[in-house]
Order: sequence, then C-alpha cells, then structure tokens
Amino acid sequence: MISPCKKTIFSYSRIYLTISFILITISIFLAASNFILWKVVVEGKNAAVSQDRQSIKEAVRKLHKQKESKYGFEVDTKQDLRIMPLLTLKPRDFTCAKTRDEIINQLNDKVDFTTSGVAIVINGKERVYVSNIETARKSLKKIEDKYCSRQDAAVSFKEEIKLTSMDDILANKIDDLNSAVDKLGGNAQKTEYYWIQEGDTLWDIASEKGIKREKILQLNDEIKNKKLHVGQKIKLVQKKHLLNVITRYKDVQCEDIPYSVMQKKDNELDITENKLIQKGIPGKKRTIYQVVEENGAIVKQKTVNQEIIKEPRPQIEVTGNDALLAYRSGREIHWPVQGNITSGFGWRHGEMHSGVDIAASYGAPVVAMMSGNVQVAKTKKQYGKLIKIVHKNGLATKYAHLSSILVPVGKVVSSGEKIGSIGVTGNATGPHLHFEVLINGKTVDPLEYFKSCGINHNN
Ligand SMILES: [Zn+2]
Repeated sequence: MISPCKKTIFSYSRIYLTISFILITISIFLAASNFILWKVVVEGKNAAVSQDRQSIKEAVRKLHKQKESKYGFEVDTKQDLRIMPLLTLKPRDFTCAKTRDEIINQLNDKVDFTTSGVAIVINGKERVYVSNIETARKSLKKIEDKYCSRQDAAVSFKEEIKLTSMDDILANKIDDLNSAVDKLGGNAQKTEYYWIQEGDTLWDIASEKGIKREKILQLNDEIKNKKLHVGQKIKLVQKKHLLNVITRYKDVQCEDIPYSVMQKKDNELDITENKLIQKGIPGKKRTIYQVVEENGAIVKQKTVNQEIIKEPRPQIEVTGNDALLAYRSGREIHWPVQGNITSGFGWRHGEMHSGVDIAASYGAPVVAMMSGNVQVAKTKKQYGKLIKIVHKNGLATKYAHLSSILVPVGKVVSSGEKIGSIGVTGNATGPHLHFEVLINGKTVDPLEYFKSCGINHNN
C-alpha cells in the first residue's frame, strides 16, 4: 500500500525540477542573446549581417538619406526589406558588420532606390530617363536647336517620341539635362543581317554598306579565312543616330542662268584662231525652293516657284574648222559643272577617293565632258544616281550623286550636253558632283587629265 505522504514528496520534486529547468533555460537564453546575430533580408536575399538590431535600423535610414543627398531628389525603395534573427551554427560564413557604416557598405548596392520621373521613349524603346517633363522637353529642344539654323523652319523628329511619366525609375538611371542631351544626340547601334548573293565579295559588301571590311570580319568569326557561300547569313552592325532632326523651310534664291555658247565653224579662219563675236551674259532667276534637311544636311530640294528676271545672252564664238585640233586644244572637252572642288582625287582618311567632288547648288546642270555613249544610267548605293559615259580611246567618265538623270542607256551624247542635275543621292552629305575620269578602266585625276588636254581647270 502506498502512503499518501510518499505521493506528496514525489509531486514536489517534479515541480522543483520543472522550475529549475525553466530558470536554466532563461539564463542560457540571456547569456546567448548577447551573441545573437541579425540579418537584413532584401527581396528574400541576405544583404547584411550585424549584431545590433538598432544599428541596422539606423543604417537603413542613413543610407536612404545619403542616396537622396547624392541624387538631389527624393528616392524611395519599394523592395521588401526585413530584419530577422540569423539562425546558424556557422556564424563565420557571414561577415558581421560592426559599425553602422559597415552595415551601410554591405547594403549599399543591394537596395534599389527608385524615384518618379519621365522616360523618353524613342520608337517604342525607353532610351533616357529624366526627373521631370520640363527636363525631357528641354533636352529634346536642345537637339532640335543643334541642327536648326532658321527661325522660319518647321522642325520635327524622324522618330516617334513619347514622354512617359513613371514612378519607379531606378534613381541611378536618372540623367540631368546635359547628360540626357549627350545621350539623345549620340548614336545607337543597329544590328542588321545580310544574306550573301551570287558574286558578292567582302569588299563589295563593305563598300555598299559603308562599313569597314575588318569590322565585318570582327563581327563574323566564322568567315575568317573561309570562302563566302551563297545564302550565308552575316551580321552587320551600323551606327544610327538615336534621333534624327528633320527641318523643312522655303528658301528664296536669286541665281544666275548660265549662258549658252554657240560655236560656229569658219573655214576661212586659221585652225588655231578663235574669235569672240558676242560675249555671253548670264541671266537671273528667282527660285523658291521647298527644302528638307536631315540633321542639317539637305536631303530634298523641290522648286515650288521660279521667276525669270533676266534672260541670258548667248556667247557666240567662231573657230577654225578642224575638229581634231579643237578637241586637242580643249574646246570639245567640258568641265562637267561649275563649282568649287571640295575634295580632290587621291588618298583621304586612309581611303582612295577615285574622283573629284565639285560643290554646286542643288539642281544645277551637269554636262558630258566629251561626246560618247551612255553605258550606265541608274541608282547605285554609294554613288546614288549615276551616269557613266564611254568615250573614244578607252576613255570613260562617271557622274555621281545626281538628283536627276536625263539620258537613257545607249544614248549618244555630245560634248557639253546636259545629262543630269546636281543632287545628294547615295553617300553624299550635301549637293555635289562626284566626277571620275577613267582611262582603260583605271581612275585618273580629272584635273591632271584636263591639264594633259591643255586646259588648266581653275575653280
Ligand atoms: Zn567623291
């Protein structure tokens, strides 16, 4: 039989044990709490570790303030940021920040601060971010002003531009006015592909696309030391302006109308003689052009009105009747257009310039250097609208960047006959004639050729 006294003793000892256990646990916990580590978790990822929970809170606040004074505008973070105890048996896996600044260092690039602002969207792509709509408008205006020199011009962009207000732009992506203008006025890379066609060479593709041959090799590792095959796809990268400024305006110009030269043959005259019967006087005309410029270079010029103020008076000359001598003395050879030579024949910027560039106003008449047969009259990528005339004795001439071609292939043209008009087609930045003289298929300096014919061409 169990005495009641014995049972009481048993219960007391159980209570006593339980209390001791609780007390021991509490003392262990209190001892350990000095060593508990706290971690900052940003979007589920450990971002910083410290022993002091209060310092972490202060560090987050200070980091926020630091960012705001760095950027100069209000920022915020929309990320999920939590402070939690770090439960680990291997605390050495973490670098424990000892001071508030060390915590800031650990957090610095792990917390994204965002702000409200405006995205400048070009052709559907967010390209530049600024603080507000005024800065966005000002930066676009600066790009327009860069290319617009006329008060009366209508200015627009070739690209579609949208300004979109956003409230979660990463603070470090916001540009001030100057750097926004720099970015908008710069270049964007555009990747293009080209499929090799029958007869293509790298040289052709390079000159056609206006890219260096080395650049193509750099982009397409697989074609090094190998032959190209038809249908092969190669990569081409071209730099394009991010924004292109289109300017439209009306331009009034008073221009000379060149006089014509009438040459009469006179068998009575000595073959070297040349008599001036009537001196030519240029006429005057007033032309209104509708001009379109892209980034400051004329790309289109259309006559909308023309008024002749004074008709030209033709020049009448009488020469000795010997065609061969006339040719040799240069009378049957014509400089193709009046104007200044802006670029000579020969090497420039490491590339061969195969002719001379003669600047002239848009639409000015271009004449055949000599009589001959039109062999080419079509648009080519680099040359633009091009005419090639084949003359006698292995001689040929090319006239490039024309705005119009007036002679068809196969036509026999006479020396000095109008064959086209000055333009900016092909790879040209302003209206000019690219003029080439070829002897047996090889380009020669046109000025030297004229000299050899006894003509010193002076601009
Ligand atoms: Zn040229």
